[in-house]
Amino acid sequence: MVSRRSYIKTVSIKVWIWVFSCAVLETLCIPSNEVNLLDSRSVMGDLGWIAYPKNGWEEIGEVDENYAPIHTYQVCKVMEHNQNNWLQTNWILNEGAHRVFVELKFTLRDCNSLPGGLGTCKETFNVYYYESNDEDGRNVHESQYTKIDTIAADESFTELDLGDRVMKLNTEVRNVGPLTKKGFYLAFQDLGACIALVSVRVFYKKCPFIVRNLALFPDTITGSDSSQLLEVSGTCVNNSVAEEPPRMHCSAEGEWLVPIGRCMCQAGHEEVNGSCQVCKPGFYRSALQTKTCSKCPPHSFTKTEASTSCQCEQGYYRTDMDPTNMACTKPPSAPRNAISNVNETSVFLEWSAPEETGGRKDVTYSILCRKISVDLGHYEPCGSHVRYLPQRTGLRNTSVMVVDLLAHTNYTFEVEAVNGVSELTKPLRQYVSLNVTTNQAAPSPITVVKKGKTAKNSIAVSWQEPDRPNGIILEYEIKYFEKDQETSYTIIKAKETEVVADGLKPASAYIFQIRARTSAGYGGFSRRFEFETSPYLSASRDQGQVPVIAVAVTVGIILLALVTGFLLSGRRCGYSKAKQDPEEEKMHFHNGHIKFPGVRTYIDPHTYEDPNQAVHEFAKEIDVSCITIERVIGAGEFGEVCSGPLRLPGKREITVAIKTLKAGYTEKQRRDFLAEASIMGQFDHPNIIHLEGVVTKSKPVMIITEYMENGSLDTFLKKNDGQFTVIQLVGMLRGIASGMRYLSDMGYVHRDLAARNILVNSNLVCKVSDFGLSRVLEDDPEAAYTTRGGKIPIRWTAPEAIAYRKFTSASDVWSYGIVMWEVMSYGERPYWEMSNQDVIKAVEESYRLPGPMDCPTALYHLMMDCWQKDRNSRPKFEEIVSLLDKLIRNPSSLKSLINPSNRVSNLLVEHGSAELCVFSSVGEWLDAIKMGRYTELFMESGYTSLEVVTQMTLDDLRRVGVTLAGHQKKILNSIQEMRVQMMNATIPV
Ligand code: AMP
Repeated sequence: MVSRRSYIKTVSIKVWIWVFSCAVLETLCIPSNEVNLLDSRSVMGDLGWIAYPKNGWEEIGEVDENYAPIHTYQVCKVMEHNQNNWLQTNWILNEGAHRVFVELKFTLRDCNSLPGGLGTCKETFNVYYYESNDEDGRNVHESQYTKIDTIAADESFTELDLGDRVMKLNTEVRNVGPLTKKGFYLAFQDLGACIALVSVRVFYKKCPFIVRNLALFPDTITGSDSSQLLEVSGTCVNNSVAEEPPRMHCSAEGEWLVPIGRCMCQAGHEEVNGSCQVCKPGFYRSALQTKTCSKCPPHSFTKTEASTSCQCEQGYYRTDMDPTNMACTKPPSAPRNAISNVNETSVFLEWSAPEETGGRKDVTYSILCRKISVDLGHYEPCGSHVRYLPQRTGLRNTSVMVVDLLAHTNYTFEVEAVNGVSELTKPLRQYVSLNVTTNQAAPSPITVVKKGKTAKNSIAVSWQEPDRPNGIILEYEIKYFEKDQETSYTIIKAKETEVVADGLKPASAYIFQIRARTSAGYGGFSRRFEFETSPYLSASRDQGQVPVIAVAVTVGIILLALVTGFLLSGRRCGYSKAKQDPEEEKMHFHNGHIKFPGVRTYIDPHTYEDPNQAVHEFAKEIDVSCITIERVIGAGEFGEVCSGPLRLPGKREITVAIKTLKAGYTEKQRRDFLAEASIMGQFDHPNIIHLEGVVTKSKPVMIITEYMENGSLDTFLKKNDGQFTVIQLVGMLRGIASGMRYLSDMGYVHRDLAARNILVNSNLVCKVSDFGLSRVLEDDPEAAYTTRGGKIPIRWTAPEAIAYRKFTSASDVWSYGIVMWEVMSYGERPYWEMSNQDVIKAVEESYRLPGPMDCPTALYHLMMDCWQKDRNSRPKFEEIVSLLDKLIRNPSSLKSLINPSNRVSNLLVEHGSAELCVFSSVGEWLDAIKMGRYTELFMESGYTSLEVVTQMTLDDLRRVGVTLAGHQKKILNSIQEMRVQMMNATIPV
């Protein structure tokens, strides 16, 4: 039997042992995230707990090894029935915690180890709490308490254990919550167990103060719920700012979880061990760029702590755009080696990069232009008309083109080098200057051209002086042509800034271009301006009131002009070109050749809405009573061709040819028949058949032309084979060429030029006839259908016209060559009896008609030239006329006839080599290849015949004295061709 005293003592010893060991390990025993609200072991004096009944729980003081008192409460009324012993703690302030933990350390005696009374012995006790806002709960009734739990021992001890001195201390922890009041009492209820309550610790859990990502998170009491996560905002440490608001989460276990956001050290500070420290002098940190302080970049410094940037040394700069870690820089030095190159009113400036770029890569150049004004020494800006290519400022390359300067003017150009910091150093400029004087220059192009009064056949055009005349304007040149007909244009020269272009087609678009001329020459043409003539007037207006008004107005104007002219100027005796510059000069061009002054452009009658109107515009109506048909002279497509006298009132009687339109014609036939008159009526030339007029008001409809006694040329020649002198033949050819020159100048392409369409009068004058458009080829018995469906007189037609209907004056020239051949062979049929297909093939393969018998070489050369494949290489009618004129003036030039051995009437000649075939002497050959200058040297060296020449080598040429490499090559090539030519002199077809 153990006495109560000895039991308590024994327990005390055990407690002492535990207290001792715990005191040593104190710090380890309470984790840092736990905050004690009560720890019975640390209370020095009386705990002051209340036991009820008084003889129940008993406080027994003990001391630890340091003699510090410790408190234990014990009860052991295992032998007595109906035990209900309460022990109430002091009021415990919960310090804001909503959930607290109660840790109990106790020993409990095993009932089995107790002798007797087992029926009343208990091995558990109960723990309660009672909440209150103040210390007024001393007398709380049992039923007011809330039970926390019934506590049983994990380990209980027996008497035997005591003997073994083995400690059987139990630790139980229970949590209490949620708490809603300021404090609470704990109570321990014993119902008859043997307990020693060694320590009671009440604590709550918190997430302890922490610095994470440069943010401070305070001590945070955990939530009331065991699974609750409290979100806590952090505060940035000193000298730091939140990059993203820092937050963390405090768990029920007092652990910090899930950090979000962070703080960053302010500029001028860097992060060292979770705090922000200042940058030392000589170092800087700009906001948020680098983590640590950096040394100042070159040419910069800082003498203070916490610098966010470094200051530039004197003479060095930094732009707002430059990053703080970039070295300070300075402006570049001046560009070097500047040179200028003047071209009229343009200057090309070029220079080298500056020696010193200032440490930057953004060097550009700007140009400052100043004009030295007439009052010497005085500078003025160049003005906005000056253009800089590519630009004036911000030049990356070391050159610029300055254009549109004034002529004969002194300029100064300053080429300045600038970089990003040049702005900061103003007005210090780094430049190199150049003095330049511009040259004479042509006027700038005219930019403003306006249409004035427009009529159906005329357009008045005015314009403004060019922006930069660059001198005194001597005259203007006005070029105009019908749209898409550029090969045929008219040029008017005028001194005023307006002209009237007349002789135009109604309702047609015309292109105008104008340029000015000064002593420096012509400026560039203006851009193309397109203006349209007025459309035709309707018949009623034309023939109704208008003439009455027009006559009245015209009479008035003439009277006024006469009176004014008479009064103002004695020189202008009644004649004046209204609104026209008296010094105006007008020229017509076709394919680059000037036309005779006064020659108008041919107007296609099909452009007239009403063909009758065209006929009456260009042909005179003849009263049928003036005509007498005497005999039939031929047959035309539309009817018979007759002849007879024409007696016009007041004129002498003449014989005329009368073409008739047979009865039963269609409207189209009538139109096509009269179209020839509309065309012929526009021509007025001695070598073009002359139209006397038309008879349309009675039937049959007739076209009256001059009578050509000898009829058509082909028949005439055949009839008179061999009867004419060469000069007579050339005279005929000259006439035809002259007529054709006139037609081409008028812009008319004949398309059917052949000896059969030339008429000859009694004086052997040849005149071109047979005009028409679609009709032309329809009525020609020679015309054959081509693969493309057109009807074409194959033997007379140029290959490009056959192949793709490219009819031009150049294709007329080809036909003219055939006419020459016909004339020189007295009406021989070109290509004899070869089929049209064979003719096309042979011509395509470069074969050409051989020279006719007894044909002068010069004429055959001319024919061959007319048959050049490249139509641009063919001579123009203008050139043909002048060549024939030359031959006629110098008949001996016609003496040289083509080599009879090479002229075989049924052989074709290969074009290109043909020239060689027909050379009769070395001199002629050399002339032909434009090497005539060496003729004498050849002769002196014994190269007198072509046979010997074909044996020559390069060395021979050198010996002869041909030293220029280009000439040697040309002559040798020609010799080589001649050799081949001689080997296969002709090729049969
Ligand atoms: P054409 O319809 O123009 O081809 O004329 C047919 C034929 O009439 C010609 O081949 C000439 O023989 C003849 N002829 C046409 N016009 C005249 C004329 N003005 N003078 C003489 N004969 C002409």
